[in-house]
Amino acid sequence: VRVMADKNVKTFQFVIVGGGIAGVTCVEQLSSQIPSADVALITAGPHIKAVANYKQVSRALEEFDVEERPSSVLEEKFPNLTVIHSPVKSLDTESHSLETTDGQVFGYEKLCICSGGRPKLLTQDNPYVLGIRDTDSAQEFQKRLSKARRIVVVGNGGIALELVYEVEGCEVIWAVKDKAIGNTFFDAGAAQFLIPSLEASKPEVAAPCKRPRYTTEDRAAGSLHTFTAESGSALGPDWHEGIVLRGAEQVVSVVRIEYHCEVEKIFTSEELLNSPVKSDCGSWPVCILLTNGKTFGCDFVVSATGVVPNTEPFLHGNTFAVADDGGLRVDDHMRTSESDVYAAGDVCTACWEHSPLWQQMRLWTQARQMGWYAGRCMAAHVLSEKIELDFCFELFSHITKFFNYKVVLLGKFNGQGLGSEHELLVRCTKGQEYVKVVLSNGRMVGAVLIGETDLEETFENLILNQMDLTPYGEDLLNPNIDIEDYFD
Ligand code: FAD
Repeated sequence: VRVMADKNVKTFQFVIVGGGIAGVTCVEQLSSQIPSADVALITAGPHIKAVANYKQVSRALEEFDVEERPSSVLEEKFPNLTVIHSPVKSLDTESHSLETTDGQVFGYEKLCICSGGRPKLLTQDNPYVLGIRDTDSAQEFQKRLSKARRIVVVGNGGIALELVYEVEGCEVIWAVKDKAIGNTFFDAGAAQFLIPSLEASKPEVAAPCKRPRYTTEDRAAGSLHTFTAESGSALGPDWHEGIVLRGAEQVVSVVRIEYHCEVEKIFTSEELLNSPVKSDCGSWPVCILLTNGKTFGCDFVVSATGVVPNTEPFLHGNTFAVADDGGLRVDDHMRTSESDVYAAGDVCTACWEHSPLWQQMRLWTQARQMGWYAGRCMAAHVLSEKIELDFCFELFSHITKFFNYKVVLLGKFNGQGLGSEHELLVRCTKGQEYVKVVLSNGRMVGAVLIGETDLEETFENLILNQMDLTPYGEDLLNPNIDIEDYFD
């Protein structure tokens, strides 16, 4: 290990960059495993994200809440931890050192980059295009929405799905590039199941919020650093709870979905003055032209088209291998291509040979699992211990809520990478549940469970044990057969 010899540079045994779920979990793991280790957490935002009420639902499924906390909570728990609140400006892997924007330089023996991602914006620097990433951007969205009569939402992932469902009192034009909504998570059948929820009126009184709300009191007091929209951690489950997403109109929301289209161009009011689309856009402040030829004027556009890994400060002068999606490539020990540099969470791309039932998705659970595993790997390497890829990377699993339904996704839930070599079994009761099973060579390889199906554990076992289910045929989803007893 070549470590900076400069006496003025404080060198830590472990440096972790990023106070999101991945970075914080990595710090916790390292500090508990090697309590004597000198650990530094360098993060851009004033708060850190912590996992709370962690619950192992089944062997592979986990659920937890996310809390935004002051970093002092971590420092109190781990006396050998130093938290540095300043964004990293540059990294020199050769000398094993980092520089922060306030000019401090820190050395490391082992480094883990957990800098997350930022919204992929349709255009940069257009005041009428918003991305939602953190508490600040969610509040900016809420403020703008309160005066809006019509917004255009572009994107088809989790954020767009939640947004269109939650917004009230404002017309929503939803542009999705696929032929069905929620393509990242669902197939067209599940989308069809969910669509009526968009049209139905929502429950008058929202269910009590199980999870903590995101507050920004400290920031408002102005006692902390300037906090740019890009510097905070990504929001997580229930990010919109506690934030009223209400537009300027009294009417219930109308959601109009434009399928199979992307954004061709966004016109600002100046550009509109000399443009032929002017007449379609009336007096709206901004106008959007979709690839299906339709134009819509609106108050603003929400760009919810995914994230770009935050790699820039680390790339310059180094030779990191970067994946096609822009993430730092990591191997099965969370190591990047630069020696002694690990990465975890949204910033990295898992480039080991995946289990046939797992895929990377930039989600909370995976940020926690990767941060935890990266911490274990870093400790194991320092202690010269052997470590094998963790079981959590065996089977993809995710629990969430969409349109007020519980949603469980397991394995290759959308037949990802299976080509035509798979079969689907579907059971659907309108307004109640949607169950889909993906079979390959008679074995269950994935499932989508929407509603209170109570099937997650049984299906998880069937996926993990790869039992040949051919003899059961369609009985697998027969509602009159208690499937759990069947396989006991
Ligand atoms: P982040 O949480 O993004 O944290 C990155 C950290 O790095 C931050 O603390 C940041 O301040 C710091 N940082 C960045 N650059 C630097 C730098 N140069 N120097 C120092 N520090 C830096 N996932 C789910 O599973 N379920 C959901 O319901 C869900 N909803 C979401 C809703 C929204 C609106 C968004 C934006 C995301 C949602 N996600 C959800 C995704 C989830 O939030 C992310 O996958 C997860 O937060 C990634 O964790 P992370 O620790 O890798 O990165």
